[in-house]
Amino acid sequence: MRTKEYIEREEKFGAHNYHPLPVVLNRGEGVFVWDVEDKRYFDFLSGYSALNQGHRHPKIIEALKQQADCLTLTSRAFHSDLLGEYMEYTCRYFGYDKLLPMNTGAEGVETALKLCRRWGYVRKGVAPEQAKIVVCADNFHGRTITVISMSTDPSSYGNFGPFTPGFVKIPYNQADALREALADPTVVGFLLEPIQGEAGVVVPDEGYLRECYALCKQHHVLFIADEIQTGIARTGKMLACDYEEVRPDILILGKAISGGVLPVSAVLADDEVMLTILPGEHGSTYGGNPLAAKVSIAALEVVKEERLWENAYRMGQLFREEIARIDNPMIKLVRGKGLLNAVVTEPTNGKNAWDICMALMRNGLLAKPTHDHIIRFTPPLVITEEQMHEAIAIIRQTLEEV
Ligand code: PLP
Repeated sequence: MRTKEYIEREEKFGAHNYHPLPVVLNRGEGVFVWDVEDKRYFDFLSGYSALNQGHRHPKIIEALKQQADCLTLTSRAFHSDLLGEYMEYTCRYFGYDKLLPMNTGAEGVETALKLCRRWGYVRKGVAPEQAKIVVCADNFHGRTITVISMSTDPSSYGNFGPFTPGFVKIPYNQADALREALADPTVVGFLLEPIQGEAGVVVPDEGYLRECYALCKQHHVLFIADEIQTGIARTGKMLACDYEEVRPDILILGKAISGGVLPVSAVLADDEVMLTILPGEHGSTYGGNPLAAKVSIAALEVVKEERLWENAYRMGQLFREEIARIDNPMIKLVRGKGLLNAVVTEPTNGKNAWDICMALMRNGLLAKPTHDHIIRFTPPLVITEEQMHEAIAIIRQTLEEV
């Protein structure tokens, strides 16, 4: 079968809930993927930042294979010999007392919200059913009903109501708005992305995270960071919150914690928060399964062994400097941190970000628009300087063509 036939079959039998580029992939290695016609591409999406360690990192795949030959699932009805090891490793890695394992990012966010509300009732003493959580405009935390109840994007929440109550939406990057919202004593948490990924890699002003954290402390409110996209070295530090030396009360991780191998998410917190949830009150059949535990340890080890945050930092600087030097009317702005970057484009001669991505694809580089006019460029963090120069040359040449 050829590309067209694969796509037609998917469209015929699959829900139309995505609008992918018309490319059909069947192989990946490092920063590259290949399509069914054996054309090679730079992967500048990295599974929405899940593939920080690159496609099929040998150490992670070895862990997957070894564990697949031993034990894949116990459910949490029983213990496994790996769950404790994974929890200890990850808690020490990020500096928390405890971890609650889940699978997808959205589930991690749901878990953090439940944990925060529970803490609000049993520790902060908020009256039953009154707890509120402050969230930011233009957030993206996933696709479940409760998570889209926090969204301000009609394409996320439109025609999916009624929604979960208990959220207060404030503008992003405005500490004063948080200060005002926190005057309400029933507020128990503040949830944010340290950089808004899906919104188009929106980087807040320096000092914003620190100020928000201080306000939360002042008002006895939990600071919850969704680092599902920004975490695990993507932004040039292990966590994006590290830039401002902020340690979230609840940390949500996903995506690259498994190196793009299986759905793994994790919520980390200290005992005062985590121990408010009791046996039988939350969980997931697959959460913390042995296969996920083994793969996640390997994926996190790779990040440390290869010091991927350093490469992300350096290659990110190179990328932004070189893109900023391109003289092209379609480029309005390049922004980001580490290897979480976006180019804001200006439609020119009837061509927009989608047309640029189509042309990039033809020239051997895969990237995807977000919000019509923004293109996210997020290659695996293992990209070498030589590969980065090659990719930048493709982008430069493509923009000229378009
Ligand atoms: N939170 C953030 C910041 C994300 O970027 C995403 C996915 O893009 C999610 C949550 C949801 O993760 P998942 O798609 O694994 O549910």
